[in-house]
Amino acid sequence: MRPEILFPLFKDVTSLKGVGARTAELISKVAGPHIIDLLWHLPTDIIDRRYRPKIAEARPDTIATITLRITKHYPPFNKRSPYKVVGMDDTGAMNLVFFRARSDYLNKVLPENETRIVSGKVERFGDTLQMTHPDHIGTEDEIDTMSKVEPVYPLTAGLSLKVLGKAMSAALEIPKPLPEWQDGPLMKREKWPAWHEALHAVHAPESEAELSPVTPARRRLAYDELLSNQLALALVRAHMKRSKGLSLVGDGTLRKKVLAALPFELTNAQKLAIDEVDADLAAEHRMLRLLQGDVGSGKTVVALMAMLSAVEAGGQAVLMAPTEILARQHHATLTQMAEPAGLQPLLLTGRERGKNRDGLLEKLETGAARLAVGTHALFQDDVAYKDLRVAVIDEQHRFGVHQRLTLASKGRAVDVLVMTATPIPRTLMLTAYGDMDVSRLMEKPAGRQPVTTALISNERLDEVVAAVKRATGSGARVYWVCPLIEESETSDMAAAEARYDHLKSIFGERVGLVHGRLKGAEKDAVMTAFKDGAIDILVATTVIEVGVDVPEATVMVIEHAVRFGLAQLHQLRGRIGRGSGKSTCLLLHAGHIGETAKARLTTMRETDDGFVIAEKDLELRGAGELLGTRQSGLPEFRLADITEHADLLPIARDDAELILRNDPELESERGQALRQLLYLFERDAAIRYLRSG
Ligand code: ADP
Ligand code: MG
Repeated sequence: MRPEILFPLFKDVTSLKGVGARTAELISKVAGPHIIDLLWHLPTDIIDRRYRPKIAEARPDTIATITLRITKHYPPFNKRSPYKVVGMDDTGAMNLVFFRARSDYLNKVLPENETRIVSGKVERFGDTLQMTHPDHIGTEDEIDTMSKVEPVYPLTAGLSLKVLGKAMSAALEIPKPLPEWQDGPLMKREKWPAWHEALHAVHAPESEAELSPVTPARRRLAYDELLSNQLALALVRAHMKRSKGLSLVGDGTLRKKVLAALPFELTNAQKLAIDEVDADLAAEHRMLRLLQGDVGSGKTVVALMAMLSAVEAGGQAVLMAPTEILARQHHATLTQMAEPAGLQPLLLTGRERGKNRDGLLEKLETGAARLAVGTHALFQDDVAYKDLRVAVIDEQHRFGVHQRLTLASKGRAVDVLVMTATPIPRTLMLTAYGDMDVSRLMEKPAGRQPVTTALISNERLDEVVAAVKRATGSGARVYWVCPLIEESETSDMAAAEARYDHLKSIFGERVGLVHGRLKGAEKDAVMTAFKDGAIDILVATTVIEVGVDVPEATVMVIEHAVRFGLAQLHQLRGRIGRGSGKSTCLLLHAGHIGETAKARLTTMRETDDGFVIAEKDLELRGAGELLGTRQSGLPEFRLADITEHADLLPIARDDAELILRNDPELESERGQALRQLLYLFERDAAIRYLRSG
């Protein structure tokens, strides 16, 4: 239950004075429905109203706050002419100009023969000075509030700064000081104000400099958010670790057979990762490990070893992939690798239906199937396992924190290994996974060929086609990738189809097309044709992004490359350079591209290091965009900026760990305050893991 002291902050913005349903809806759009959401909506600019000149001194095109005596009203003489109000001081006169104004209103706020304050932009109109629609009009005693620095907030159509500013002022009256949850010495070192003070400070910037994300007040609020995130993740993790696991130790017989039959030696990185996984499996707690390795680094063998341990110990293991193509690819690979051990992995995807599916489910339930590969179909409600011990989840470049946490319910104490090809920067990893155990495959198996990457303007498409012709002429196979045009799968497909027709008119029957809408069997047929060399050009949407393994493919053309994330481009490019031939990747772009787009593509040309690419992407695009936050399951931050506040993340991580070590149930005085912090950032779910939550 949310503590009472926070109730007012979670009221709807409609409870604020002057905020009706219509305004509330607009505020909801830019900030959110609750008062706290509004308070988290920070200014991005300022209007400095401190310039208070006499009329004769006022600089045109400047924001000024001017005290004047209203001398005369001149209502418009026709519909299109403006309403003018003349005001004077001892240095001169100026016009206040209003279009489509109501005279009763103007007479009320600017009565003749009285002194008033106006604030707005001063303009020169012929010989006279004027101010069109002053931003503010007030009486003399309001001069102090009117001649301040005014914060400017992101707005939306229909919501004026005036209306939002009023709502904000009302909202700022609501919060009371809260007991401090931050560590005293840290606050002192960073010169951070208390929460309440910080909140007021960020909404009252006195200068452009104070809009910076690194002012003490902004950093403090950012840190509040990061700490709440890390604390929540740490609580979930502590809960998972506490929930009983089973010690799993295989006898090594199956592994030995599989390893003996491999055509290669394991790399040291693979051996180390397997040792780390084994230690987790043997321990009493559940494994929750991330296996991170660039495309082609050899994660599959590591995963298979973990799966074999489960089978050796009499249990079952599954591998789940994010797409059907990838599931099939994994299934083919594992079937081949596990064959020497006499094991035949079962395949379960959305394509298996009816009787066939019933038969597969029965094998899982009776334990007749020891290994299974599939999509999320493996974890549907009606799928039961005899004794599921190890689950490997291949996320490729997707995050699926939630999926992972619910999955554990399928077995008594499933050990979970998550494989990811995204070279997630450390900062992002902390926010998405917390301090999860990680094994990294930094070293690639020998024999990988570097890929030459070139940037080419769309206008030179003919040259690209000619190059493809030369390449296929000497036996190369080519991926031709068409990007997402819009959010819709249909237009995506249309672009791919158009390119397919175009290339077919040049290359004839040697061209194939694969996209997300094809039926499974059709997809397989095209992929097989490409693999076997029956076709040498494969036009594709991003369905080929992951997993596909055709060593003969040495050329990749990517159209509108700027529309892809760098991580995605890296994944795509990882499809070539797998065999012995020299590989080339051509990134096509529009004739004119922006600086950032250019910088991104240049990064692709200059490095093949997934970590460098991911860091660069983060720097150039920001975390939110990096992986498409919404789908990615990455937490979205309101106050923290992963790039600007990157240094605070490890501090928050250590802080969270220390807090829970000393006070696992958050019962101390600071612990109680930290609970409020968790509620403040709506990490209510994590609080449920506390005994007295
Ligand atoms: P990832 O899943 O990390 O992208 P895979 O596990 O699919 O990589 O491995 C990519 C390719 O490298 C596969 O063809 C695999 O057989 C091969 N491979 C894996 N480990 C080694 C190794 N130690 N030496 C040589 N080749 C390897
Ligand atoms: Mg793979």
